[in-house]
Amino acid sequence: MQLPPVLSPSILSIVLLSGLATAILPTAKQPWSNYTVHDKTRPLPPKVKVDKPITTPAPSDAIVLFNGKGTSEWTQPWRVKDGVMIASPKDNLTKREFADCQLHLEWRVPAGRKVKGQSGGNSGIFLMNLYEVQILESHDNLTYADGQAGALYGQTPPSVNASLPQGSWQSYDIFFKAPRYDGKKLISPAYITVIHNGVVIHNHQQFYGPTKWRRVFKYPETHPEKAPIRLQWHRDPIEYRNIWVRPLK
Ligand code: MG
Repeated sequence: MQLPPVLSPSILSIVLLSGLATAILPTAKQPWSNYTVHDKTRPLPPKVKVDKPITTPAPSDAIVLFNGKGTSEWTQPWRVKDGVMIASPKDNLTKREFADCQLHLEWRVPAGRKVKGQSGGNSGIFLMNLYEVQILESHDNLTYADGQAGALYGQTPPSVNASLPQGSWQSYDIFFKAPRYDGKKLISPAYITVIHNGVVIHNHQQFYGPTKWRRVFKYPETHPEKAPIRLQWHRDPIEYRNIWVRPLK
């Protein structure tokens, strides 16, 4: 078969494999809802009109993870330009590890970038390297409810859609409580409260396990007490600024 010149064998194999994975991986039923993971029939959260993000400067007891200058707190040297850290190849983890914490983070999907569904405007914040709060263009762009901006990916959609337009800065203020274990027994799941551009979109919502594409994951038998925060590289140059964290006792 003659391949079009833009489809090199490696690109073609990625396209074919991802298509194959979509075809053969069943989407799991969510035991906690009436839906399957990424169910397209799940109602989308109502839109809330917001004016601007919250841009709280780091308080004195916060650990500053990015303030417009270097990436020394991170494992990957993501590109920094004009005080903005730009998602670049490979997921980026904090060098420090965290459990219970308050996290402030500002992000932006670059204006003019072509976005469709989960493509073009996708990143994410993984608390403890396992639990994703989705970052996505969701002002105009439609996708499944548990995959839009602010979703606990593949689990719980945000209660409302507080997205600002593409090209605008947006803020997340996250309060995270790590799961609790007694030996190998889960005593309490992870909980999260998320404020998106000043609007509560999750209020002490539990994670049902680590988040995953098309899958339902149970809590592992062994869980780290602390772990890095991870920013997702999803092949889109999502921009970040003003990231700080306060470990909570
Ligand atoms: Mg993502």
